[in-house]
Amino acid sequence: MREPSKHCWKSYDLIALYKKTIKKIQKEDKLQRFYFPPEVNCYWNTKLKAAARIILNGDNEPQRIEFNPTYFALFPQDLEKVMIHEVLHIKFPNHGASFKLHCKIYGGLLYSKNIERRKS
Ligand SMILES: [Zn+2]
Repeated sequence: MREPSKHCWKSYDLIALYKKTIKKIQKEDKLQRFYFPPEVNCYWNTKLKAAARIILNGDNEPQRIEFNPTYFALFPQDLEKVMIHEVLHIKFPNHGASFKLHCKIYGGLLYSKNIERRKS
C-alpha cells in the first residue's frame, strides 16, 4: 500500500471543486430542476472512515462536505466523482433509485473503494 502524500491534499481547493461540480451538473440539467447553494464548506477530515460524507440539516441544506485524505491520497482519481456523489445528496439524501440514476447520469461514483485503515 502506498503512503498517502503529505503535500497534495492539504492545499487542494475543495470548495473550487464543489463550485465546478454544481456548474457541471446544472449545465447538463436540461430541465433546470436542480438548485444547489453556490458555496458549501468542504473539509478534509482525517478521522473519517468513509471516503467522504455530506452533513445536511433538517431542510436538506448542506452544512459541510468532508473528505478522507487517506482515501484520496490512494485514489486521487476518485475525487471529482465522489464530489458529484456528495453534491447529489443535496437533492437525494439517501441511496435510493433516484439517487443511483442521477449518479449514473452525472458520472458520480456510487460506491467508493474499501480502504483498510492501518494501525500505526
Ligand atoms: Zn452517499
